[in-house]
Amino acid sequence: MFGLYIHVPFCSAICNYCNFNRGLFDADLKNRYVEAVVAEIARAGEAALKGCATRPAATPEPNVAQPVRAARAAADTIYFGGGTPSLLEPEEIARIVGACESAFDVSLDREVTMEANPESVTEARLAAFRRAGVNRLSVGVQSFRDDELRRLSRLHSVDRARAAVGAARAAGFDNLSLDLMMWLPEQSVSQWLESVDAAIALAPEHLSLYMLEVYPNAPLKDDIARARWSQAPDDDAAAMYVEAMERLEAAGLEQYEISNVARPGRRSRHNLKYWTDGEWLGFGPGAHSTRGGVRWKNTSSTQEYVEQVGRGDSIAVDVRRLTPDERLGDALFTALRLVDGIDGNAIQTRYGVDVWRRYGADLEPFIEVGCLRREGSRLSLTRQGMLLAHEVMTVFV
Ligand code: SF4
Repeated sequence: MFGLYIHVPFCSAICNYCNFNRGLFDADLKNRYVEAVVAEIARAGEAALKGCATRPAATPEPNVAQPVRAARAAADTIYFGGGTPSLLEPEEIARIVGACESAFDVSLDREVTMEANPESVTEARLAAFRRAGVNRLSVGVQSFRDDELRRLSRLHSVDRARAAVGAARAAGFDNLSLDLMMWLPEQSVSQWLESVDAAIALAPEHLSLYMLEVYPNAPLKDDIARARWSQAPDDDAAAMYVEAMERLEAAGLEQYEISNVARPGRRSRHNLKYWTDGEWLGFGPGAHSTRGGVRWKNTSSTQEYVEQVGRGDSIAVDVRRLTPDERLGDALFTALRLVDGIDGNAIQTRYGVDVWRRYGADLEPFIEVGCLRREGSRLSLTRQGMLLAHEVMTVFV
């Protein structure tokens, strides 16, 4: 089964570090966006039904179209990401979920995730999102310190974040994920661990930990220079990561991916498709898709997206059929992000390649320095190795 991703490109304000595809909320554009997403989903469903292509008008090169199947294609996850999906009205989320159900065979035990920012939710709104079909909430908390939130120009406070989690529980959400960011300007190891402990105290089912990346053109870069904020040295960043993972595991949140921990049975089923050689269709501006060995991206501009969908034009850009070597490289690269790592037997079955025979000479040095572990046919990063994951992954790409 594949996953459905819906990109919601609107935010109430633009954070100083943000590198996502998003823009300021505009009610008129948002209304047109919802119409366009519903139309795009219906079109993709029709294409799958005809068994000729995932999305006929969206795929500019006819020879890229991939036979799928004559029955409705089956999906088991829907993920609303952004941007700030919680700025949509619950009825709009319900309409988009309904469009997915009409276009695809969405399983009954589906996982439907919505990302939410603390300042945009109340118990009543969350209860309405729940009724709209959302059963997993991912809350962008980022930090449990107000000074850090201010430096990131976030709109919410720590109190608001705690209130959002309480409101989510009261609204009936029993599958809650929190996002935290580490290695923030002026953040010490102990301040970071304050946020980790505060998150643990709220007993979420899932947590994602991201290391702040300051992009060259991010306003945060100027803020850092102007205010002379410093960032902890690399060794401290490593300590932040390792200590956080140990505390989270002690609290019953098991690490399953470089940046993600979960209680048993609460791993993100949608995101696992990205790391386990799965398939997904993305809808909305800038959304990516991977299906039948073809990868494409939608046009990024929301304005152009709604106009092109309205005219029935192609919205796909960067359409590319992956070569067998690229597919293999991607499968290995992403599997290495998982604590379970690469299953050599599964790769042999799917791609006909003996991973160790092909890459062993390049991987051996990483095993010798304790970054990589080899157990039977499995290859996985050690926790220290996760800090150097990109270096190990370059072997495969
Ligand atoms: S809320 Fe998220 S998507 Fe929106 S500007 Fe901030 S970081 Fe970017």
